Amino acid sequence: MTTAATTSATKTSYAELCTFSRETATLRSVEYLLGWDQETYMPDGAVDGRAKQRALLAGMLHDRRTSDEMGDLIGACEGDAELLADSAVASDIREFRRDYDLATKLPTELVRELQEVGSRAQVIWRDARAKDDFASFAPTLDTLIGLIRRKAECYGVPEGGELYDALLNEYEPGVRASDIEAIFTPLAKSLSTLNAELAQNGTPPDTSCLELKVPEANQHAFGLFVLKSIGFDLNCGRLDTTTHPFCEGLAPGDTRLTTRYRDEHFTDALYGTMHEAGHGIYEQGLPKARFYGQPLSEAVSLGIHESQSRMWENSVGRSMAFWEWALPHAKEQLGPALADCSAEQLYRAVNTAKPSFIRVEADEATYNLHVMLRFDVERAIVRGDIGVNDIPGLWNETFKRYLGLDVPSDAKGCLQDVHWSFGAIGYFPTYCLGNLYAAQFWETINEQIPELDRQIASGEFGPLRTWLNENIHAHGRRYRAGELCEKVTGKSLSAEPLLRHLSGKLRPIYGLD
Ligand code: ZN
Repeated sequence: MTTAATTSATKTSYAELCTFSRETATLRSVEYLLGWDQETYMPDGAVDGRAKQRALLAGMLHDRRTSDEMGDLIGACEGDAELLADSAVASDIREFRRDYDLATKLPTELVRELQEVGSRAQVIWRDARAKDDFASFAPTLDTLIGLIRRKAECYGVPEGGELYDALLNEYEPGVRASDIEAIFTPLAKSLSTLNAELAQNGTPPDTSCLELKVPEANQHAFGLFVLKSIGFDLNCGRLDTTTHPFCEGLAPGDTRLTTRYRDEHFTDALYGTMHEAGHGIYEQGLPKARFYGQPLSEAVSLGIHESQSRMWENSVGRSMAFWEWALPHAKEQLGPALADCSAEQLYRAVNTAKPSFIRVEADEATYNLHVMLRFDVERAIVRGDIGVNDIPGLWNETFKRYLGLDVPSDAKGCLQDVHWSFGAIGYFPTYCLGNLYAAQFWETINEQIPELDRQIASGEFGPLRTWLNENIHAHGRRYRAGELCEKVTGKSLSAEPLLRHLSGKLRPIYGLD
């Protein structure tokens, strides 16, 4: 039985837990700032000093996250039924526990070894990819995979699950490989059929309007204009240029985006910017002013984060309504290159679907097949069904089955992604989950805001942003991804909305309906 005295003691514990955690988050924001600076403006000569700064901070952060003080405070909160009767507080404590367990389950020696082998592996991988030489990467990858399997064993296999689940859980809490398989298998089949039909019977759109040359400065100005219009708050954020675009929710009131430009294909930078803005609008929508440092102010999972970016990039940015609004502004700001383009032409061109080898360049219809292939290969290797040397063979065979192409080289095949070289196994499925969540949310949003298309066409993005904020952003990590999906859409996650979206859009563009 809980007495009044223990309740007030645990309330104090909860307050202390939140304060302690807010300080940890503030320290982490310093580390984020150093990381952002390193990717954007840091001079090369600063690299050694920066590595020391970041290593020092990483150690301090790890000590705080795994401290007995944290453990004791969480334990005290867990013991109080009255405190847990508030379901938001109960979720907060559940997630505090999850983070603490993940941080403390790994022996320090394993964390250090993973970090060391990982940073060495990235250099070896880069070289191997440049030389198209998988054999030179294989021994390091083998060591890394051994360490990752040990990491998964430390986390523990969930009852009735498999080792891969423990890795997936780091990025997508509570989701299992069997859940992913149940969605991916029929989706892969339907997507392959759709892509084959488009390729064999469809008429591909004219893409000449994408090849026009647009100066970088004009693209940057237009990107900023779109950011402002869709509601990314530039008073609490920035847009800079990097080789690999990213978004960092650095601290309350400070969200940094980056993008990259090419003179041709101005839509690459535009969609890169809109993608990162989707992540950024999520970060800005999280209740950080109230709950900074607590799970209640953080993103649900990588999959849900990706759903927000893909929604602004694809559901909004690749729609006809978007181009009806954007084209007059684009013509004004991107210079004479676009003078002869119509909204219809751009809409069709940006929705070209064509199998290609590189995941990050893939279109909406083929992208998920790239992800599924990686899931199949990763799962086989973690299960021990194949060895490292079997990866190129399995990759190429699966690629042919999913995308119908013969992979010409490992550089364009299993060596293309950076993820494995830093030990991120179990990460890829979240990209596909993001697309699935985005499509399912989008159907619900359109039911609840029937005027959405007209609003987008006239540049009114506020109602959409408010909907996302109230239904998704405001909850932080209160609900797990699956739960959130059911709460928002009334259904568990399924591939049907994405398939309806793709075939409903692409078949008419390819002249098949
Ligand atoms: Zn993303």
